[in-house]
Amino acid sequence: MILVTGGAGYIGSHTVLELLRSGYEVVVVDDLSAGHRELVLTDNFVQADIRDRAALSAAFQQYPIEAVLHFAALTSVPESVADPGRYYDVNLGGTLVLLEVMRAFGVTRLVFSSSAAIYGDPQRLPIPEDHPIRPKSPYGRSKAVCEEILADYARAYGFSYVSLRYFNAAGSDPEGKIGEWHEPECHLIPIVLEAASGKRPYVEIFGTDYETPDGTGVRDYIHVVDLAQAHVLALEHLAAGGESGAYNLGIGRGYSVREVIEVCRKVTGRKIPVREGPRRPGDPAILVADARRAQRELHWQPRYTNLESMVETAWAWMRRRES
Ligand code: UDP
Repeated sequence: MILVTGGAGYIGSHTVLELLRSGYEVVVVDDLSAGHRELVLTDNFVQADIRDRAALSAAFQQYPIEAVLHFAALTSVPESVADPGRYYDVNLGGTLVLLEVMRAFGVTRLVFSSSAAIYGDPQRLPIPEDHPIRPKSPYGRSKAVCEEILADYARAYGFSYVSLRYFNAAGSDPEGKIGEWHEPECHLIPIVLEAASGKRPYVEIFGTDYETPDGTGVRDYIHVVDLAQAHVLALEHLAAGGESGAYNLGIGRGYSVREVIEVCRKVTGRKIPVREGPRRPGDPAILVADARRAQRELHWQPRYTNLESMVETAWAWMRRRES
């Protein structure tokens, strides 16, 4: 059985669905501080904070856990800039408790949710995994430090791990069972779609003076189903005795904020009011992945390679939720 921490969140819940579709048995631990029970498509559910050692130990006692996918974390760059203590407590403290409970129960295989935010401002594009790690935010730093802790646990205690460095997750399950659901919403594509549906008055562009072709931030958007697939492949890699390591997950193509808005306009056929605002603290100008290592070593092949298809599934989910 696979333990998924944070399995009620956006990427976690899509990965649980992918695991179930691939025939795995899954148990989810989530405190529902940001996730939603409705997104968890298994009855094996434990509502607990990952910093709660007793509750985590009880879950390991109750279920025959062989490996862990660790998503549970706080995930907002601007929030982490405003409140770093909370981010280190949950993201670092929670990971340490989880690792110690794993160790106590002799579970040593882990797939870790890392992030492109660990790189900071890129010195090379697209960004390969051996790019310098210089996070610009406490969120990015919390992920970078966790990766180093995992390497220590691998060396000292025989853990094996894969860190998956996500670029920008987008889209929803194409069958419409689950989708992106944050409250409040802070990610670009759902915000733009909320403006398209009239749920918010306008989209604010955070910064129009970046050194990018149109002055707005550029990101590499990757469909959440392709991310979920990569987790299943990472698990298989570890189960087959594969080496520990880190992998970028992205398409390798960047879209600016203005381009995202334009694609959303096309897909929805709606007017999208826009305002230009200042930069958001902690945001790099451009993040684009070199994800060839994951393709080569994990045999990962993303299926959704253009932004339109990601926005289409996100829009379908939003309309279903609203109806
Ligand atoms: N962004 C924006 N307006 C918003 C939300 C995001 O202009 O209301 C920009 C943000 O500055 C970044 C990009 O959109 O350049 C993607 O931001 P998001 O929060 O979705 O993901 P992040 O890259 O921070 O993980």
